[in-house]
Amino acid sequence: MKQIVILGAGFGGLSAAKLLAKKLKNAGLNDKYKITLVDRNDYHTYTPMLYEAATTAKETANYIELRNIATFPMSVALKNSGINFIKNEIVKINIADGVVQLRNETLTCDYLVLALGSETNFFGIPGLEERALTLKTFIDALRLRDTILNAIAENQNARIIIGGGGSTGVELAGEIKMWMPQTRVSIIEASESVLFGFAPKVVRKAEKRLMCLGIEIITSERITSIDEKKVKLASGKDVAYNVFVWGGGTKASKLISELPLKIEEGKRGRVEVAEEMECLVRTPDLTLRSKIYATGDNVCSKAPSVARAAIDHAKIASSNIIADILNEEGRGKFGHKIYKSYDYPYIIPVGGKYAIVKIGPFVISGFFGWIIKGIVELNYLLSILPFWRALKVWLKGIKIFIQNDRLG
Ligand SMILES: Cc1cc2nc3c(=O)[nH]c(=O)nc-3n(C[C@H](O)[C@H](O)[C@H](O)COP(=O)(O)OP(=O)(O)OC[C@H]3O[C@@H](n4cnc5c(N)ncnc54)[C@H](O)[C@@H]3O)c2cc1C
Repeated sequence: MKQIVILGAGFGGLSAAKLLAKKLKNAGLNDKYKITLVDRNDYHTYTPMLYEAATTAKETANYIELRNIATFPMSVALKNSGINFIKNEIVKINIADGVVQLRNETLTCDYLVLALGSETNFFGIPGLEERALTLKTFIDALRLRDTILNAIAENQNARIIIGGGGSTGVELAGEIKMWMPQTRVSIIEASESVLFGFAPKVVRKAEKRLMCLGIEIITSERITSIDEKKVKLASGKDVAYNVFVWGGGTKASKLISELPLKIEEGKRGRVEVAEEMECLVRTPDLTLRSKIYATGDNVCSKAPSVARAAIDHAKIASSNIIADILNEEGRGKFGHKIYKSYDYPYIIPVGGKYAIVKIGPFVISGFFGWIIKGIVELNYLLSILPFWRALKVWLKGIKIFIQNDRLG
């Protein structure tokens, strides 16, 4: 059997695997091509739920309940799909030979999809990687919750500092403040406003909401180092903290940035792709055994790093892989589809039942924004889980969230 290997089972990888499986089945080729999906976790993480997982009281939800609303077992997401799932760490990708090295296992591939997402970028700031908490995974969310609870147990007025006022910083600050109103929560941002680069109306609404919640916003201040007790700023000021969370940037994993593919210049190290989502090679003489596509956050794209973009990339990549396969099988002459970025709608929840939603030129905020967020979540859950399970998970999430809000 020919091998299609997909690295990473996040939004992009999972969508690519499911779409490819469906298309291969429709083409009657599922016994000639094997799809293998690899991830270090045997679950898929629904990242928009991580803020809530990190800020839910232990009386409201235990570890299992939080896990059930923020992550979904691959066995359920891939049921009856025919996709071979491997839980393992990817340690090296050798694209010249079409081989992927896992811990204690090697995979050969005829087609490869890179969907490894991103990791936290500490920009080499002294002390940051050792001392900062991050929020990228479900385990991070639990660690953050425990650290905040321990800090509050020691000091009722603990100060929580969030480095980076992008969407992660803003959303997390809002949720922490709703959960623990007595804490002092501050955002430190190097640009002149939080959500820098977002639509001005969204920025204004977010700032107003943060101030309303009592969150301190420190802008135009760059963090230069951090020690056990204080954050040092470029202006020379020291800011004491009890809990420090870093949400100041992301980059592609080293596995990607070290590939002999075209990699974007700068600090993010993502792979460059053609409009067909096929990776561009660095040296023209590199003979690739496999065709390599990429989706999601590990791609250098005009699209923002959001789940919807990863899923759209996956749609194009999977269509084009199928076109390549059908052409190879002599089933006709199929052309490639092209990915076009657009003004992606986005939602920024800022504490409690409040979210700012931007759809095209329209900005909706407040409770109605929160309702839209709920509908978008349900829609995604329905796309990866069986109907009743998706509905159950969604309702459970809402119940936990509302109870937590009331407690806060
Ligand atoms: C806290 C948080 C909240 C967010 N909220 C939103 C939101 O509300 N809306 C939105 O659109 N986007 C949101 N995002 C962004 C969104 O999660 C990403 O854009 C999206 O996950 C990108 O999909 P992806 O498939 O590229 O990567 P991911 O979904 O990150 O998937 C990458 C996968 O690769 C696996 N992996 C990586 N390296 C290895 C390795 N070496 N070995 C094995 N497996 C590996 C990881 O385990 C992971 O499962 C949020 C992100 C975070 C962190």
